[in-house]
Amino acid sequence: MSIRQKTLSVSQAAALCGVGRTTVGYWIRSNKLRANRIGRNYSIPVQDLLYFLKSTGQKIPPILHDENLKGPIFKSFQHCWEYWQGRDSFRNCEQCIAFQKQLEVCFTAKNSRSSRCSIDCDICQYYVDIFLPRIHFVNQIDVPAAVIKDLYFWCGNSKLAQLCEVSKKDLIGKGIEEIVHPSSLALVIASAKRRSLGDFEVPEKCTVSIKNERTDKLQITVGVYPLIEPEGAFLVLAE
Ligand code: SF4
Repeated sequence: MSIRQKTLSVSQAAALCGVGRTTVGYWIRSNKLRANRIGRNYSIPVQDLLYFLKSTGQKIPPILHDENLKGPIFKSFQHCWEYWQGRDSFRNCEQCIAFQKQLEVCFTAKNSRSSRCSIDCDICQYYVDIFLPRIHFVNQIDVPAAVIKDLYFWCGNSKLAQLCEVSKKDLIGKGIEEIVHPSSLALVIASAKRRSLGDFEVPEKCTVSIKNERTDKLQITVGVYPLIEPEGAFLVLAE
């Protein structure tokens, strides 16, 4: 038996976990378990309950097992302004372009003058909590590698940063046009568009030029592979 609901009430979560409502309330108030406030009640994403139970070594109720435990469990997605609410009263999210444009991926606007984020994304608790667990595997790859979605870098490993002559932290949120040489840009954009539309005819490997301070452009062969998580993202490996 499995649960098909995406969210649970406090009473449902308490009953499933075999604890009292006050215990679940404590998990929520102490920021251990994520929940959305709806009026006077809380709505708990099933994914976050699973993440909490697994990361704290607690028993997963059998009803949550089947469909939910097939892959790694991450915290559910949250917008940055939702994440910071109640955590950091000094954040001026309403003034930030990420909030004003309701951006799903705030770091794509990191370099905008209308961004109110002043720290580097690689040490931002929001990035570390919500995005990094899904893409951290890139750092275990021994060739230049990156995760790219919608023509933006979500992260890159040290070898890629070295190849592109940028610091690893600065790769986060870079548009591909900042890395890819103009002579290859049209090809990269066309391939990315076709891939995002599910076109399987696009070759997995191609040769592109990237910008390079010493030689103007550097030719590399890249392999591009779709990821299941984050949905719609691609792993890019350079040879
Ligand atoms: S520092 Fe970067 S990841 Fe963190 S909220 Fe700002 S733009 Fe987003």
